[in-house]
Amino acid sequence: MSHYIPYGRQDIIQADIDAVVEVLRSEWITQGPSIERFEQAVAQYCGTKYAVAVSSATAALHIACLALNLGQGDILWTSPNTFVASANCSLYCGAKIDFVDIDPNTYNLSVDELERKLAKAQRDGCLPKVLVPVHFAGQSCEMERIAALSHQYGFRIIEDGSHAIGGKYKGLPIGNCKFSDITVFSFHPVKIITTGEGGMVLTNQEELYQKLIRLRSHGITRDANLIQGQSHGSWYYQQIELGFNYRVTDIQAALGASQLQRLDEFVERRCFIAQRYNQLLHDLPIILPWQHLDTESSWHLYVIRLKLEDINKNHRQVFEELRQAGIGVNLHYIPVHTQPYYQQLGFQWGDFPEAEKYYQAAISIPIYYGLTNKEQEQVVTLLKHIILCR
Ligand SMILES: *Cc1c(COP(=O)(O)O)cnc(C)c1O
Repeated sequence: MSHYIPYGRQDIIQADIDAVVEVLRSEWITQGPSIERFEQAVAQYCGTKYAVAVSSATAALHIACLALNLGQGDILWTSPNTFVASANCSLYCGAKIDFVDIDPNTYNLSVDELERKLAKAQRDGCLPKVLVPVHFAGQSCEMERIAALSHQYGFRIIEDGSHAIGGKYKGLPIGNCKFSDITVFSFHPVKIITTGEGGMVLTNQEELYQKLIRLRSHGITRDANLIQGQSHGSWYYQQIELGFNYRVTDIQAALGASQLQRLDEFVERRCFIAQRYNQLLHDLPIILPWQHLDTESSWHLYVIRLKLEDINKNHRQVFEELRQAGIGVNLHYIPVHTQPYYQQLGFQWGDFPEAEKYYQAAISIPIYYGLTNKEQEQVVTLLKHIILCR
């Protein structure tokens, strides 16, 4: 029996460990210089003015929504084919949530559907305040079209780039916020680079940046321009809004900065693995990932869809036989609107048929930097056997 191959995992080398140990031996293990260094490195990589490191992408989404003043009476729209955090951020702010069904080719939110839904929402007087396009599997949404709609209808944009650091759209790095107000990244260990837990918020807007910095740390400021009345002395700070403790440690930031140095190498390898899967799997009764010409994916996920009408097994059987054979396949994603918590808000099966149809046949197969060619061949052999044999 060969060893278990997960669908994704981190890659840590001695240089990462050394960077972390150096922080542990230093004066600052939190709120020290590593955080700013990491923020500046990511901002520079993406070509963005400002970056704020936080404790997770979930925290990043939360303060991004608050920075855009999302609150009671407002509506946020996102894709149903995402992790629950992309939707939960709206509920944290007391706002409402709705979804835009997906494009059956990219599995990103469909811009045609968005256009149709916006026209209807305008007639009904319920336009969204914020849209969260999710760059699924690392492939960018059609941001230029989305940005044009945001100008027409007056909504703000938070890109959920949790899968997508290192990817590009129209030749520019995802995260550069050319077509959005804010982008967030996740540094969870299955994502492209990791800090253990962690996330980042990027923006080109100074005002949003200042607000994000405050929201990360209790809503507290020491800025003389923002302090009301007289300072009491050099110890003095004021809490001017309700913030959180969403900070990362310097230990995490040092790991992130070290990982960032290998980002291009990580993405290159993932891209190679994806192209190799494309070749090795092309004659199976499955649908392979389709790429829009404007995008260069970071390949966080490699999702296949079973052509169930041409296979003698059902989706669940294929999935579970792969798991039993030691392949850590996964399913991204259970449509968010079908979760019990969301059903209780009034959503039902049938509301977003493309996302549901996708869910009935999708399987994420292993892709990560450390996946060897031999392991990939093993995945392919098992996949062929399980799909083609009774
Ligand atoms: C992983 C993920 C998140 C949440 O990231 P955390 O850093 O774990 O909070 C949000 N959105 C998407 C699309 C994700 O994949």
